[in-house]
Amino acid sequence: TSMLSDRILAMEESQTIAMVKKGRELSAQGIDVINLGFGEPDFQTPQYIKDAAKAALDEGYTFYTPVPGYPDLRKAICEKLKRDNNLEYKNENIVVSTGAKQSLANVVLSLVNPGDEVIVFAPYWVSYTEIVKLAEGVTVELVGSIDDDFKATAAQLEAAITPRTKLIMYSSPCNPTGAVFTREEMAAIADVVARNPHVYVLADEIYEYINFVGEHVSIAQFDEIKDRVITVNGFSKGYAMTGWRVGYIAASVDIACACEKIQSQITSGTCSIAQRAAIVALQGGRATADEMAQAYHRRRDLVLDLVKDIPGLRTPTPSGAFYIFPDVSGYFGKTAPDGQTIENAYDLALFILRDAHVASVDGRAFGAPNCIRFSTAAADEKLREAFARIKKSLATLE
Ligand code: PLP
Repeated sequence: TSMLSDRILAMEESQTIAMVKKGRELSAQGIDVINLGFGEPDFQTPQYIKDAAKAALDEGYTFYTPVPGYPDLRKAICEKLKRDNNLEYKNENIVVSTGAKQSLANVVLSLVNPGDEVIVFAPYWVSYTEIVKLAEGVTVELVGSIDDDFKATAAQLEAAITPRTKLIMYSSPCNPTGAVFTREEMAAIADVVARNPHVYVLADEIYEYINFVGEHVSIAQFDEIKDRVITVNGFSKGYAMTGWRVGYIAASVDIACACEKIQSQITSGTCSIAQRAAIVALQGGRATADEMAQAYHRRRDLVLDLVKDIPGLRTPTPSGAFYIFPDVSGYFGKTAPDGQTIENAYDLALFILRDAHVASVDGRAFGAPNCIRFSTAAADEKLREAFARIKKSLATLE
């Protein structure tokens, strides 16, 4: 028996972090490891945002901040939601948190009672199911087919809803698949939600600005269900601000108040300096984000071109974000030159790390045990080298 709580024992360590740790161990031995494991932009935060943070310090922004965020940041977020998403919100609907991850946790803890079902579109971002566990909810996975770019359908959703369903959760653009829901698909999902008034929607739009197909559809745009939609977004991906820890929700006032209440007891308001910088980031609009998105787009095309020449990787074309998520099940049952059998995607990801010195993350933690996720947010020459090595290593499997 352990001194630790059942709650913490039920939780998994982040597998993204676990695999990256193994890669670091190899690096420490002097091996040149290419890390395609992490979900992080390889760009620096744009200079104008860094300058705003320095100015904030000099202006004396060193005190506790209001729990739901500075009023002028919340106002800037409302303006962003109007400009980009055609959504009307007031400050009272916005809660700024220490990363979108905290926003997600706040919402799930605010809405989910023990035993409540949370429908998670799979493949999903690793933390969703663990946060649901923390709230003692029951995850119901809705698995999208690779033939539909891994997108769950409205019909599947309809079939999965029960009287115990409280919440549905997804990201679009999706981490790990890069799938983006079209307006038509989103309308069909909204329609199902409209017919089930006990169901809430947590729409994770953190990859909004990294979208190669163009239209980003917020499910909150469907007026009938807007009160039951919580939109989550943040600065980590679009503005390359992962370390700054700023995310936010837009939601009905009662949900926003609940999130504020949790946050007031756990973290208080987000870092003062990061919030001041976030205001200036939003004032800069999408220009720097669009520039970075162009680079991700180019790298996606490059990587798709490189994996085309590698047999056994079934790779749908991502419409956004910065990952590829091939199905690698064609390699299961094969044996590596060192005698180890590849039973599953984890074994293959370990083999690729061991033999090609490329770190990735296998799909188990994303609810897709046949897949491996590779980040494409790395320099072009690194991507070329990584996939050349992977091709060579995979060719040695028999
Ligand atoms: N949602 C998704 C789908 C993500 O991929 C991530 C980060 O990897 C987050 C949320 C969390 O972002 P933040 O850095 O704002 O906590």
